Amino acid sequence: MSENSQILSSFPAKLYIIATPIGNISDITYRAIETLQRVDIIAAEDTRHSGRLLSHYQIKKPMIALHDHNERERSKMLIGKIKNGQAVALISDAGTPLISDPGYHLVNECRASGVDVVPIPGPSAVITALSCAGLATDRFTFEGFLPAKEKGKQDKLKALIEEKRTMVFYESPRRIIDTVKQVILIFGADRKLVIARELTKAFESFYSLTASEMLIWLEKDTNHCRGEFVLIIAGANLQEDSLPQDALNTLRLLKEQLPLKKAAALTAQIHQQKKNELYKWGLDHL
Ligand code: SAM
Repeated sequence: MSENSQILSSFPAKLYIIATPIGNISDITYRAIETLQRVDIIAAEDTRHSGRLLSHYQIKKPMIALHDHNERERSKMLIGKIKNGQAVALISDAGTPLISDPGYHLVNECRASGVDVVPIPGPSAVITALSCAGLATDRFTFEGFLPAKEKGKQDKLKALIEEKRTMVFYESPRRIIDTVKQVILIFGADRKLVIARELTKAFESFYSLTASEMLIWLEKDTNHCRGEFVLIIAGANLQEDSLPQDALNTLRLLKEQLPLKKAAALTAQIHQQKKNELYKWGLDHL
C-alpha cells in the first residue's frame, strides 16, 4: 500500500454535514463526493431517496435513516460510532441539512460531547433563490416554512410587518395561494414579491410581481402552483410606508365603500394616525 492510500483509508472520525443537489443532480461538489466515498456511514433523511443520488455517483455505503421522528435516539447511536473511530456523513433529501431539515439535534449533541462537526457546503434553496431574485441581499432574514394554520400564519406575518430586510420563506404548492392572500392582507397589495420555482430543474422560473399581481398570476392556471417554491418578500420601505401597514389596510378597505376623505378620517381615528397623511397616501396609491 502506498503512503498516499494509507492516508486515504484513515478518514478522520467526525460528523460531516454534506449539502446535496436541490434539483439538478450535477450540483454537488467534488469535496462532497469524495467525503461521501470515504465516510463509514451515511445518515440520510430518506435512505431510498438518497440511495438514488448515491448510486448515480457509484457510492455504496451503509446507510441509516435519520429523520424528525428518530433523531434523538439515532444521534446517541451515531455519536457512539464516531467516538469509536467511524466517520459519519449526514445528508438530507435536498440541499443543506439543518436548513428546514433534520440534523439540529445531532449537531448540537456532537458539539456538546466534543465531537467535531465539519461542513461540506453546497446548494440551499434559500441562497439559490436570493442570488437571482433581484431583491436586496445585503441583509435578509430566512423564515423557513410559515405555520400551516391561518391564525399561526397571520401572527407570524404580523410580527414581520416592520421588517426592513428581505424575507425568505419556503412554501408548499398547496399553501402558496393562501399565503399570498395573507401577505396582501398584512403587508399590502403593493408589496414586491418574488417566487423562485423549481430551482435548478427543467421548469425553473422566477416571477417578480406585486403581491396582488402575484395572486392573479397564481390563480390564473393550476399549473402555476405546481413544483417547489421559495417565496421572497421585499422588506418594508419605511420611507414610502411610514404609515403602519394595518392602517393602510383599513384605509384600502374603507375606501371601497366611502369617499377618500371620509375613509381617511375614520382610519385616522381607528389607528391614531394623522388624517392628512392618510388622505395624501390615498391620493397617491388608491
Ligand atoms: N434543506 C433544503 C435547503 O437547503 O434548501 C430545504 C429543505 S425543505 C424541507 C424543502 C423546501 O425547500 C421546499 O418545500 C421548497 O420550499 C424549498 N426548495 C427545495 N428545493 C427547491 C427547488 N429546487 N426550488 C424551489 N424551492 C426549493
